[in-house]
Amino acid sequence: MVNKDTVIQVIGTISDSIIENSEMLNDLDRAIGDADHGINMKRGFEKVKTTLDTTAFTDITHAFKTVGMTLLTTVGGASGPLYATAFLKFADQCKDVEEIDVKTYAEMLSAAIEGMKKRGKSDAGCKTMLDVWIPYLDTFKKETEDGAEMSKVLELSMDAARGGFEYSKTIIATKGRASYLGERSLGHGDPGAASTVLILQSLSEMFQEG
Ligand code: ADP
Ligand code: MG
Repeated sequence: MVNKDTVIQVIGTISDSIIENSEMLNDLDRAIGDADHGINMKRGFEKVKTTLDTTAFTDITHAFKTVGMTLLTTVGGASGPLYATAFLKFADQCKDVEEIDVKTYAEMLSAAIEGMKKRGKSDAGCKTMLDVWIPYLDTFKKETEDGAEMSKVLELSMDAARGGFEYSKTIIATKGRASYLGERSLGHGDPGAASTVLILQSLSEMFQEG
């Protein structure tokens, strides 16, 4: 049952996972950017954690909206407004929702992706975080429509997400700082794609029983 308490718990899990992996995210950004993706994300999610400890959230929308606004004001970099957009779109889709079901989750992801595409003026194939968000949602939708069990749906969706990160190694960046490198961005995974894998991993855990 994905209610407000589960969502708050998952936001904490996302925060811990980003904070723990910030060096890895810096390393990826060092290769094709300015080595600060982990620093940026850690700053944002440390603030999110403080906010979790000090806020009594009224509902799911309030929780996601707070994350979005916190990321917007603390992360900085290209990734800040993009992740802020994702969480603010999650918030929009959860208005009047007591529990997140499969349908709402797909709508949240879809709205987030549309928002980030607009905000970043980008799409799949530009070597960005979208190369992970999009295959995750596509697989999630396909597998739920095919009637797969939830654990299987999430496993396959995460396979697609990780596949998106691997794919990002094989293409030239056309958006963001890495695009300045042209062909030299080949062979390196996108840092934002890596942080999205972490976020989606924790979000997927929302649906785990118990
Ligand atoms: P900056 O590039 O300003 O240093 P970060 O290092 O925090 O910011 O974030 C870089 C990540 O942001 C990239 O790895 C990429 O995934 C994402 N990104 C950058 N520009 C765009 C864009 N236009 N659309 C989607 N994602 C983008
Ligand atoms: Mg950077």
